Amino acid sequence: MARARIVEVFSSLQGEGLRLGERQIFVRFGGCNLRCDYCDEPLSLSSSAGALWSAARLKARILALQRTRRHRAISWTGGEPLLWAEFLLEMMAWAKRKGFENHLETNGVLPARLKLAAGLADVVAMDVKLPSATGRSTWRAHAACVHVAPEKTFVKVVLTAASRTAEVRRVLKILEDLPDVPLILQPATPDLTGKVRPIAPERAMAFFRLARSMRKGVRLTPQWHPIWGVR
Ligand code: SF4
Repeated sequence: MARARIVEVFSSLQGEGLRLGERQIFVRFGGCNLRCDYCDEPLSLSSSAGALWSAARLKARILALQRTRRHRAISWTGGEPLLWAEFLLEMMAWAKRKGFENHLETNGVLPARLKLAAGLADVVAMDVKLPSATGRSTWRAHAACVHVAPEKTFVKVVLTAASRTAEVRRVLKILEDLPDVPLILQPATPDLTGKVRPIAPERAMAFFRLARSMRKGVRLTPQWHPIWGVR
């Protein structure tokens, strides 16, 4: 029977994207195949992060949370949840049967696995990563991922002081034939360690104006959960 590394399961408000402010159950998987320099979940990155959970244990935990207050959706997040595709598919199918919506958060570089999960997702919250933040080019994988289920997808791009105009133009090029996919530009949240190099507001605005000049449905929003003081 499939098991997966789970770091935490909790109820909170969605702090990003199109479902901003919605109370959701968050299931955070351990392990990630990228290393973004602004990562706000460093404890989730290791392949040994968290503990091995069975599907039965996770289902019981989710149902217990649902008894405390009503949640419309489960946010499958990480780390990278698609690294645990077999377990994730079983859980997403179960969640649908229980009446939850599936809010799948992914770093957008595993198109074959995304194809398996997309049919069970109600929302695909997909990052497109800039090489200036990850130290590697993932454009080809992103271009494949954004075309898997565009009708359910919104794209988020995290901006830092290192973000370049050519990178933002490349994102816009990838989304060129998908005019209805919402694009969210999100300035990286500064952290207490000083590791994250935040983008200057005027530079973020310049990227926003550039994106808005080329497509509709562009937003510039910060992460809200640090501002609200919730995790
Ligand atoms: S993809 Fe997400 S979890 Fe993985 S390193 Fe980047 S920000 Fe962190």
